[in-house]
Amino acid sequence: MRILITGGAGFIGSHLAEELLRRGEEVYVIDNLSTGRLENIKHLAANPRFHITIETILEEKLMEDLASKCEVIFHLAAAVGVRLIIEKPVDTIETNILGTEIVLRAANKFKRKVILTSTSEVYGKNSKVPFREDDDSVYGPTTKSRWSYACSKAIDEFLSLAYFHEKKLPIVVARLFNTIGPRQTGRYGMVVPSFVQQALLGHPITVYGDGKQSRSFTYVSDVVSALIGLSEHPKAVGEVFNVGNGREITIGQLAMLIRKMSNSKSKIVYIPYEKAFEKGFEDMKRRVPDIAKLNHLIGYKPRVSLETSIERIIANYRE
Ligand code: UDP
Repeated sequence: MRILITGGAGFIGSHLAEELLRRGEEVYVIDNLSTGRLENIKHLAANPRFHITIETILEEKLMEDLASKCEVIFHLAAAVGVRLIIEKPVDTIETNILGTEIVLRAANKFKRKVILTSTSEVYGKNSKVPFREDDDSVYGPTTKSRWSYACSKAIDEFLSLAYFHEKKLPIVVARLFNTIGPRQTGRYGMVVPSFVQQALLGHPITVYGDGKQSRSFTYVSDVVSALIGLSEHPKAVGEVFNVGNGREITIGQLAMLIRKMSNSKSKIVYIPYEKAFEKGFEDMKRRVPDIAKLNHLIGYKPRVSLETSIERIIANYRE
């Protein structure tokens, strides 16, 4: 089958491309290398079933051409990372909303299945955990730019579901929780690669806030298998799924775990949010997925533990 991955040179996209090639698929990637890197896919370049276009998904004609060729589209191209969102709010909103609009319009022309990757950010600051797919989204005011990311991805979800209901376009929404693994960069503020790098260099490990906020981390291969499973299951169409791992850890504990696992002597320092981000920055206190829906439909269970994930990420950095 011919499969298109938007954002296929990114961290998750490149792992997805690799797995689809391994399964014998023909893989087309479009990526503008904004946060993606050629480095991520250089090992795939020699494969005759791998095709890459370095362009933005905002090029409508090009997207139509790719959609005409490919039967399934994994839409991963998006502005990601809290830091990027605060630094470049216009780009974030435009890439996420306009980009998805163009991808869906092109897909609809040829009635191609679209797997939209969304984010656990859409739950916003809802404090009820674990999050179930039909729980409320709770956002802060529009004057706090951090919420623009959540809102932009929520609009992507609304639009995808609207295409499904109104135009019978087969879409699946996958809400990814914090995903980690080799090739993820700390450059956009993601916590695990940042901590690993700091620990290995002996630099202070920077915990934002009081470190009592928690997250649950999923290894990238678990995310990739969930995305492929969802793309193959007819009953996933028109539905929203959490993709994650139920184990919760506070960021303070994470810092200690990473320091220990990398045999580091780094100090753990606590930095107020307003210094790390902007004045009045609001973080999500907890973020844990309920993965029952995904489990019931495709038998999904996360296979890689947090410790194994960190071990592999450390090994990858050391290389
Ligand atoms: N974080 C931190 N130090 C860092 C980077 C992030 O303490 O150097 C915190 C951040 O404030 C958040 C958590 O780690 O509470 C996860 O951050 P990340 O940006 O990885 O993901 P998200 O905020 O989207 O869950």
